[in-house]
Amino acid sequence: MAAAAVAFAASRRSWRRLFRWRAPGSRAPCGLICPTRGLSGGNEYDLLVIGGGSGGLACAKEAAEFGKKVAIMDFVVPSPRGTSWGLGGTCVNVGCIPKKLMHHAALLGGALMDAHHYGWDVAPSAPHNWNQMAKAIQNHIKSLNWGYRVQLQERNVKYFNIQGSFVNDHTVRGFTKAGKETLVTADHIVLATGGRPRYPDDVVGAMEYGITSDDLFWLKASPGKTLVVGASYVSLECAGFLTGLGLSTTVMMRSIPLRGFDQQMALLVADYMESHGTKFLKHCTMKKLEKLENNRLRVTWNNHEAGTEESSVFDTVLWAIGRVPETRRLNLDKVGVKLHPNSQKVLVNASEATSVAHIYAIGDVAEGRLELTPTAIMAGKLLARRLFGQSTELMDYDNVATTVFTPLEYGCVGLSEEEAERRYGKDDIEVYHAYYKPLEFTVAERDSTQCYIKMVCLRERDQRILGLHFIGPHAGEVIQGFALGIKCGATYPQMKKTVGIHPTSAEEVTKLWITKRSALPATVTGC
Ligand code: FAD
Ligand code: NDP
Repeated sequence: MAAAAVAFAASRRSWRRLFRWRAPGSRAPCGLICPTRGLSGGNEYDLLVIGGGSGGLACAKEAAEFGKKVAIMDFVVPSPRGTSWGLGGTCVNVGCIPKKLMHHAALLGGALMDAHHYGWDVAPSAPHNWNQMAKAIQNHIKSLNWGYRVQLQERNVKYFNIQGSFVNDHTVRGFTKAGKETLVTADHIVLATGGRPRYPDDVVGAMEYGITSDDLFWLKASPGKTLVVGASYVSLECAGFLTGLGLSTTVMMRSIPLRGFDQQMALLVADYMESHGTKFLKHCTMKKLEKLENNRLRVTWNNHEAGTEESSVFDTVLWAIGRVPETRRLNLDKVGVKLHPNSQKVLVNASEATSVAHIYAIGDVAEGRLELTPTAIMAGKLLARRLFGQSTELMDYDNVATTVFTPLEYGCVGLSEEEAERRYGKDDIEVYHAYYKPLEFTVAERDSTQCYIKMVCLRERDQRILGLHFIGPHAGEVIQGFALGIKCGATYPQMKKTVGIHPTSAEEVTKLWITKRSALPATVTGC
């Protein structure tokens, strides 16, 4: 012990001489805060993660399990409207969690309408209190923020609430909100900085008067009559729950809904929304956004189908036109981390490595990755295991299931019909499908026109399932289990042998037998 202490002191002295070592955090004569360099003269941390969202937290916590010295930086730049939040990233604060809870609030409104059919003496159109809902959800989020801080502390992960940018390839400089500077050095650095909503740069008043999903979930008062611009996940989900909460909601769509998804399914999702109160402005693009004296917003747009210019007044305009990766503030060109020239996302290989050997990127900020929380989390954990454990396991981005939480949910895993045709040819795939009626819809006299299931299989050999698509209640819960089967290479004959659970909507998947090729009517009835 004593010998070790002497050796330690000696090495500290010699490294001090060599590197003019100062205690981390002390001020050097130049006025800079000293880097947190290790006593060995090497880097202070084995791993520094920049970004405390889904991927970054998972990676940091996993690395700490291996006894490594880990630090994480997380800093939220307030939205142009001044909205800010705590530790946990997009999903927890301004994504999956508040979105799913507001979606649930809207579904409860639907349940109220069903309830009187089932004998409950409740008014089907009870008023909704936005402030009360928002407060409850925001309190839950704050408890999650706190939980993450505790988890980091328990694992001895050093948390810096600072915005990081590279000084050199092992050193990251960060600033606290108050402008205090800290330098952190690490052997390995993981970029997990995610992205932020995009604003258009060709619409007058867009940033000044519009909001994004970064603001919506933290509004204290109802957004009122809302125009949602865009037609993908964020747009349709937000428009769906706003409509469900009783607000007049319009989607402005320049092209197709849910690009990248099976288009037959996407159109059914949009059809359901349209027939349940969401208005759609199709083939329209916004031109101008002005604030009126009464604080409402006048929106002017081009209708490309009609060839006209049109306008209307809204209380809120929500931009949901995609996201910009958080790479601009990292000073990446200084260290040679290469970005995709168009997306500005970080180029990575299969092991999440960037163009700089010890710098990695995971989650939304990495080029070509699915922008989903579970993929960011798994990629982060596997990366930590490869870096510090004995693992060589790579993240498998194939057959990742996802769900769009629109009023009628859409869950899917694997290939769309279009993509299966593109890869295998129309003649080599078989599509089994069915329109079905969830049992709960019957007594409530609900419209089930868009409840639809489609399974895309190889036509020959083992008839492997290439893709499964489900529109209906609880689609996320339904598709999750089937995703395991499909990941394991499930085939159509195996699905046919699977005994369903009665009475559920999920059992309809196991009963699919009508092929599209047969042109038989695809409506299933009764038990
Ligand atoms: P993020 O979670 O975005 O975390 C990045 C963190 O890094 C942020 O806290 C950011 O402030 C911080 N940061 C950025 N730059 C710096 C810097 N220089 N220094 C320090 N910190 C920095 N996915 C699903 O799977 N299911 C859903 O239902 C779902 N719903 C969504 C709904 C909405 C409205 C949105 C916008 C997204 C949704 N997503 C959903 C996507 C999901 O939120 C993201 O895929 C996920 O959060 C990505 O995680 P990440 O770790 O890559 O980045
Ligand atoms: P996307 O990039 O998926 O979609 C952007 C949408 O905006 C498209 O409809 C696009 O139309 C439209 N658009 C783009 N630019 C303009 C413009 N200038 N004017 C009008 N419309 C425009 O972005 P999202 O923000 O919806 O989603 C980002 C990611 O977040 C998703 O890919 C998803 O992975 C993740 N997410 C996941 C959820 C879940 O798991 N349930 C929920 C929400 C988000 P066009 O098709 O014509 O380009």
